[in-house]
Amino acid sequence: MNTVKKHPIGISQSKPEKIKNIKKLGKLIIISGPSGAGKTTLIRKVMQKIPTLTFSVSATTRAIREGEIEGIDYFFVSPEEFNDLLRNDAFIEWAKVHGNLYGTLKKHVKELREKRKNVILDIDEQGANQIKKKKIPALFIYILPPSLEELEKRLKERDTERIKEMTRRLQSAKEQITSKGFYDHVIINDDIKKVVKKLKIIIEGYIEK
Ligand code: 5GP
Repeated sequence: MNTVKKHPIGISQSKPEKIKNIKKLGKLIIISGPSGAGKTTLIRKVMQKIPTLTFSVSATTRAIREGEIEGIDYFFVSPEEFNDLLRNDAFIEWAKVHGNLYGTLKKHVKELREKRKNVILDIDEQGANQIKKKKIPALFIYILPPSLEELEKRLKERDTERIKEMTRRLQSAKEQITSKGFYDHVIINDDIKKVVKKLKIIIEGYIEK
């Protein structure tokens, strides 16, 4: 009886050759969180600290805001153009957020990853969920804002009851997000410097794996 098992990929290829053939891609880091959480600032600061990080520029139908640059902040498209992209299966994920359409472009992300860039996606929960469902490997981070108003009062009044209440509410928001189970880390952005340091450690740990 012949007991030699045939390797499914093909026995003739030697190991070093096989390794050479596997192109190493950059990784995906998903950042979500409500507006006002300070995501944009955090992303900018952490990108300064990790040079291999780059930002995924999404397509959106929303109007350009003052100070934004086409191709840097977003690719600003018409609803018709967005629908064409949708029909052509151009998105890794897409969603309607506050009445506007947003989508992550497959081609754009692929090109960056092939250059071994680690790509940061600032996308909402719906988009993060789609990536999770498609089983695309990624690091999922959710940023929560402390209530600035509350924070200000807390500091002014040193009101311990208010501090307790705020901590309770933040904790409950954190538990809600954590219980959905698809975010690896839920971080409260209560101190930019501290959070940037934390993000740097988390992201470096993931991309160096
Ligand atoms: P803004 O219009 O303020 O830049 O972004 C509004 C929201 O849309 C943010 O929560 C942001 O994370 C989300 N967003 C931006 N680009 C994308 C995208 O490509 N896909 C998804 N799903 N959400 C996005």
